[in-house]
Amino acid sequence: MASINLKHVSKKYDNKVVAVADFNLDIEDKEFIIFVGPSGCGKTTTLRMIAGLEEITNGEIYIDGRLINDVQPKDRDIAMVFQNYALYPHMTVFENMAYSLKLNKTQKSEIKARVQEAARILEIEDLLDRRPKALSGGQRQRVALGRAIVRQPKVFLMDEPLSNLDAKLRSQMRTKISKLHQDLQTTFIYVTHDQVEAMTMGTRIVVMKDGYIQQVDAPQTLYEKPNNIFVAGFIGSPQMNFIQALVGKSEEEVQLKFGNSSIMLPKEKARILEDKGYIGKEIIMGIRPEDIHDEEIYLDSLAGCDVEASVEVIEMLGPETLLHVKIEASELTVKVNPKKLIKVGDTIKLALDPDKVHIFDKETEWTIMN
Ligand code: ATP
Repeated sequence: MASINLKHVSKKYDNKVVAVADFNLDIEDKEFIIFVGPSGCGKTTTLRMIAGLEEITNGEIYIDGRLINDVQPKDRDIAMVFQNYALYPHMTVFENMAYSLKLNKTQKSEIKARVQEAARILEIEDLLDRRPKALSGGQRQRVALGRAIVRQPKVFLMDEPLSNLDAKLRSQMRTKISKLHQDLQTTFIYVTHDQVEAMTMGTRIVVMKDGYIQQVDAPQTLYEKPNNIFVAGFIGSPQMNFIQALVGKSEEEVQLKFGNSSIMLPKEKARILEDKGYIGKEIIMGIRPEDIHDEEIYLDSLAGCDVEASVEVIEMLGPETLLHVKIEASELTVKVNPKKLIKVGDTIKLALDPDKVHIFDKETEWTIMN
C-alpha cells in the first residue's frame, strides 16, 4: 500500500529560482504516475522532494497518510532509479543488487532469494557474476531496476531511466517497466520529457510547465481534451496544428473563419462559443494531423468544412504519409493514406473534422470548450 499526497508543495532554491509552485496531487496506491514536461519545468525537483533528497520550501507530502516532510530518505520506504544507473563499478551485478539489503543486515538466504527473484523478473539471471563495465546500457539499466526491486519498497521513483538508451532499447525497456509495474503492484512515479514514454506507460500523466501543473489526466483524456495550447502541443506526435481564426455567425450557423476559408461548427461547440461571448472574437483553433482528411468520403460527409491546401513537403513514413501543407497563411501537418498519389506543388481539398476541432482563448491559451 502506498498512496502519496502532495499538498501545496513548492520549492524555491537559494538562487531564488521557483522550481515548483503550489503542486497539488493525490496519487493512489498502485498508480503509474508520469511527470512530463520540457527541461527545467520542475519534474526532477518534485521527485527529489518526494524521495527526501531535496528540502521542501512550503507544503506537505504524505505517504499512506503519514506526513513525511521531516522523515529521512532511508526511512521513507522509497526506491529511486536514476538516469545514470549509479551502479558500483567494483561490485558484481549480484553485489550491486544485494548492497542495500546487506546494509540493512538482511539474512544471507533472504538476500539471495530476493536478488534471484528480481533477476528472474528482469531476465538478467545469467549476468549476476559480471561487473557493470561488461554490460550493455540496457542490461545496466535492468540491474539498476533490480537494485530497487530487491528492497521491496512501497514506491518506485524513476528519473528519466531510459534516456541513455538507443531508440530500440528504449522501446523494449518501456514494455518491461510497464510489465514490472503490473507484476509488482506498487506505486510508480516516473519522470520523463518524452511524451511517447508518458503516453505509453502512465495510468495518469502530470503535465508540467515552469513549475506549475498544467493538467493531470489519463493519457487518452490528455490527448482528446487538452486543457490548454501547451498541453495540446506537447502531447501527440506530429504535433497538433494551430490556426488563428475568427468566430463568425451567419443565420443560425457559427463558423471559424481564417483567410478566405471557414469551417462550420457543430451545434454544441457553436452554443458554447455563443454562450461565452466569443462571436466576433479571434480564437486559436487546434486540429490534430489525423483529423484532417483528403478522402472523398470525408469531403462529402464534412461539407462546409473543406478547405484548399497547397502541398509543400511530403514525408513518406511507410504506414502513413505526412503532408506539410499551406492553408491560407498557416502551415499544417496532415496525416494521409500513403496509397493516394499526391505531389509537391499540388493543390488539394482537405476536410477539417469539426467534431475534433479544439478551440482555445487567444489571450489565456486555455480551452474554451470545457
Ligand atoms: P530536466 O528535464 O532538464 O531534468 P526538470 O523538469 O527535471 O528538468 P528541475 O531539474 O526540477 O527540472 O529544475 C527546475 C528548475 O530549478 C530549473 O530552472 C533549474 O535550473 C532549477 N534548479 C534545479 N536544481 C537546482 C539547484 N540545485 N539550485 C538552483 N536551481 C536549481
